[in-house]
Amino acid sequence: MNFDFTDEQQMIKKTIKKFVKEELEPAIEEQGDEKPFTKEFLLSMLKKIKPFGLVGTTIPEEAGGAGLDLMTWGLLYEELPNQLKSMSGITANMARRIYDRGTDYHKEKFLPGLLAGDKIACSANTEPNVGSNPSEIQTTATIDGDHYVINGTKTFITNGMTADYISVAVQFDRSKGGKGVGIILVDREESPVEARPIKLMGFNTGELAELFFDNVRVPKENLLIPEGQGYKTQMSGFHAWRCFVGLSGCSIAEKALEYSIKYSQEREQFGKQIGSFQLIQEMLADMKTELDAARLLTYRALDLVNRGQIARVETSIAKHYATEMAIRVTSKAIQIHGAYGLTSEFPVERLFRQARILAIPEGTTQIQKLIIGRELTGMNAFR
Ligand SMILES: Cc1cc2nc3c(=O)[nH]c(=O)nc-3n(C[C@H](O)[C@H](O)[C@H](O)COP(=O)(O)OP(=O)(O)OC[C@H]3O[C@@H](n4cnc5c(N)ncnc54)[C@H](O)[C@@H]3O)c2cc1C
Repeated sequence: MNFDFTDEQQMIKKTIKKFVKEELEPAIEEQGDEKPFTKEFLLSMLKKIKPFGLVGTTIPEEAGGAGLDLMTWGLLYEELPNQLKSMSGITANMARRIYDRGTDYHKEKFLPGLLAGDKIACSANTEPNVGSNPSEIQTTATIDGDHYVINGTKTFITNGMTADYISVAVQFDRSKGGKGVGIILVDREESPVEARPIKLMGFNTGELAELFFDNVRVPKENLLIPEGQGYKTQMSGFHAWRCFVGLSGCSIAEKALEYSIKYSQEREQFGKQIGSFQLIQEMLADMKTELDAARLLTYRALDLVNRGQIARVETSIAKHYATEMAIRVTSKAIQIHGAYGLTSEFPVERLFRQARILAIPEGTTQIQKLIIGRELTGMNAFR
């Protein structure tokens, strides 16, 4: 059993770490933490991370991609500032799906802009009444001449305000439930979609949005995943992405641990550094133990997916453990910082908010546990 990364992977990780510290973090710091980044700023960030392969990711180089394997993408992703993770990841994911499943028309129309880092994408599945069970979506697509006409509302959509392209899950035939679902690509320039921003804890600089499809007409050729295959496609996409959310949890927790160690070495009470108190050391030891466990579980799951194996249990374990771990670890970080930890003058309060949101998207903690339970028992709690 080998727990080491290849020399190349270690080198890539070291290089991006330095780049993030020297180039990205100062630029992000300058933008502040209070309001959403502008589209211009986000595109400038995409351009900066493109040379690392974080735009073209796993698409082969001969097709204009970066030719990374999934594991290497994950290692790079882990190092990215939290504020850029989902924006870049969701955009790259759409490019990969178009590369895998798209027609020549889709590839010519959508891929160049995405691979150049000139376009942002979002994936619209969740609806006001449909969250954990995407097979029940109610947004409809009906045919009218050469167009699909889309009607419905999508909500909590990452990149929803800025995205140029929307991958929208639609219901073609409600009587078929999940078997009626397909996916259509929407180019907002030719098919405008109304949107309103949603303010979310821990997501000040990001953009979640509600999207209103009100008789939105989209050329028929934009159908990416036909009726009957949309639900399955969404489910299969979850495996890698759950690991990526787990990695977000690990990087947030790692920062919280670093700040806590430093603070415990500096802060004095009862005439001693608080780091010398055994109960503070216990918290630090628990934080480090849980972080290492989460990271190993997440790397294991990502490695399995990278090797093309079905890893339903492992990816669900990684997602729920790493995200709940991040909540526990950032909460302990606040405890170690005392009242200062609750103020916005110290970074751990922000890390706690960032961690707290991770247990909801890409399948909540409860959904992950039900998937694991189903695989263990053969009994499906969802039915
Ligand atoms: C930061 C963030 C980014 C997001 N980005 C996107 C995006 O880009 N695109 C998109 O489409 N969506 C996105 N979402 C939405 C996300 O996918 C949903 O929030 C998620 O699927 C859960 O749905 P819900 O919030 O409606 O909760 P619900 O499904 O209503 O669940 C409410 C509670 O009930 C529990 N529950 C539900 N069913 C069961 C069950 N069978 N057994 C036990 N407990 C159950 C859940 O665990 C949860 O605790 C995002 C959400 C967040 C927080």
